[in-house]
Amino acid sequence: MIVVALDGPSGSGKSSTSKEIAIRAGWNYLDTGALYRAVTFIALSINSEKAEDILNKLALQPITFNSDPRDPKIFIGDLDITAEIRSHDVTEKVSIISALPEVRAELLQLQRKIISKADRGIVVEGRDIGTVVCPDAALKVFLTADIAARAQRRDAELAAESKGLDSVGASLSARDEIDSTRKVSPLAPAFDAVHIDSTELNLTETVDRIWELLLSVHFWVYRLLPS
Ligand code: C5P
Repeated sequence: MIVVALDGPSGSGKSSTSKEIAIRAGWNYLDTGALYRAVTFIALSINSEKAEDILNKLALQPITFNSDPRDPKIFIGDLDITAEIRSHDVTEKVSIISALPEVRAELLQLQRKIISKADRGIVVEGRDIGTVVCPDAALKVFLTADIAARAQRRDAELAAESKGLDSVGASLSARDEIDSTRKVSPLAPAFDAVHIDSTELNLTETVDRIWELLLSVHFWVYRLLPS
């Protein structure tokens, strides 16, 4: 089983790129940001930012993630919260909840469990995949883009729900700051990650670049692709 770790800040194109690579390879996909968003959804629903309260609730209603890159879904208990975790309230709070060490420890176990269930391969996107979650990943990519490009992409994704380009840019910068300065597993490239700047690249170009890396760095990966 092969793991591809794709880390980077919000709006760098991680999600679209990871899903596309997983689809091309016929592998699984894990969006670890969705797990942190689900925990944040729980925190908001119980109106508490205390790790103990959040973990108690999580024990009653575990998070499950559907790893199909064509239709990734996330649940707490039986409840599908795939759309809800993208709300403005969750987005504004997620970096605070993600900085809680107890929450990270719990989600570390969950991430490794989901990854270990993959059959031939899995593309995992996040902030600390190459450094903490899967330090032995076969390929580690750190994907970036300049803040203007990232804000523009996120603004287009949010469409009617966007609060304007400036506000989207400010929200991304605020999250970057919290994510990269927190004490436990901050957003950072692994020492052996390949850096790709997607500012001037479209989705296909970004995917092609990573695909080439995957095939050249790990020739045995061919055995894990569909025939
Ligand atoms: O990827 P996405 O923007 O949905 O992630 C939401 C938030 O989840 C990030 O801003 C970060 O605070 C947190 N996160 C994290 N570690 C990860 C993935 C996401 O702390 N591996």
